[in-house]
Amino acid sequence: MKGFGVIKKGTVGWLEKPDPICGPSDAIARPIALAPCTSDVHSAYEMEGPHLINRILGHESIGELIEVGSEVRDFQIGDRVVIPCTTPSWSYPSIQDGMHQHEAGLVSGINFSSYEDGTLCDRIKIRSADMNLAMLPANLNPETAVMITDMMTTGFHGAELAEVKFGDSVCVMGIGPVGLMAVAGSALSGAGQLLAVGTRPDCVTLAKEYGATDIISYKEGSIYDQVMDATDGNGVDAVIVAGGDLETFYTAFGICKNGGHVANINVFTEITSFNIPIEHSGGGWMGHKTFRGGLCPGGRRRMERLISIVQAGRVDPGRMITHRFHGMDSIPEAFQLMVEKPRDLIKPVVILD
Ligand code: NDP
Ligand code: ZN
Repeated sequence: MKGFGVIKKGTVGWLEKPDPICGPSDAIARPIALAPCTSDVHSAYEMEGPHLINRILGHESIGELIEVGSEVRDFQIGDRVVIPCTTPSWSYPSIQDGMHQHEAGLVSGINFSSYEDGTLCDRIKIRSADMNLAMLPANLNPETAVMITDMMTTGFHGAELAEVKFGDSVCVMGIGPVGLMAVAGSALSGAGQLLAVGTRPDCVTLAKEYGATDIISYKEGSIYDQVMDATDGNGVDAVIVAGGDLETFYTAFGICKNGGHVANINVFTEITSFNIPIEHSGGGWMGHKTFRGGLCPGGRRRMERLISIVQAGRVDPGRMITHRFHGMDSIPEAFQLMVEKPRDLIKPVVILD
């Protein structure tokens, strides 16, 4: 097989590897639509470890099955499938405690492009096919569907982690594709005032389309002051951090009301600690503020639920696609866009018909 990945920290390129072996509960797909993620850039340039050497990147994909294990019940060769970025084996008892993302240890569920080879390749191996794959509906465009596999599930998870309820005021910090889906997820969850922090014009336009009521530019003054001004000094019930630096993260605690919730879905790399200023914590953590950070949920039912939202016309994640490429050879170019992040980029896709 051939895939695009990390040769060693800071160096990406094509990798040749033996074809994956399809176990009894596995399936193998040829890709139909692929997308690189900001997390792939973190893996290539900021993180390190033996598991990130000679590692194929990518965890956002739609595929057509070319091989199916003997124990797979619901899928056949030729099926077109939505492949979630998080694909646990579902065979660990700890899943019964509730967190499939960490079934065999921290973030083990997102084996693609981390502990095992990812999806920017010509043969994608999916474990626990019956539990992880969802059928791609005939009327759902693969490029739209690929936005569900990570961006939509992660952004919506931000709204879940922040416990957004009807009428909550919400601030989403960062409106790249992950934050945009957090805006859409918060709107669907019933947010009232919905503030979005970001500056790229296309992202701002789309944030409004997805339900943002106020746009805040972190380049034009402090986020704290702007959020306080926009909320009559009250702050917000829920904050979702989907971009920015440590200052942004600390500010999330400052703008969160006492009794409110802060959720982090941003990936922090190359830092060793958080030092949240005491004045932001609500009286030295007497303010009943909660904090949760989390990895994107995956698995079959999660994908099927998100697909149903898209099919019902409630959210169109395909609106985030700004750059389209065709063919395997264009993967490096699409990946490079994620590295450089030109201001007109929201999300690139690679289509392989
Ligand atoms: P982008 O780089 O596209 O978006 C980042 C956003 O943050 C932009 O809106 C940017 O604004 C904004 N931003 C930049 N600097 C600041 C600042 N100082 N204060 C506030 N906002 C700021 O990233 P993605 O949407 O692709 O990904 C976001 C994060 O989510 C990444 O770290 C990624 O690794 C992570 N991720 C996490 C997952 C999970 O499971 N938890 C899964 C997938 C991704 P501007 O408009 O000016 O560019
Ligand atoms: Zn990702």
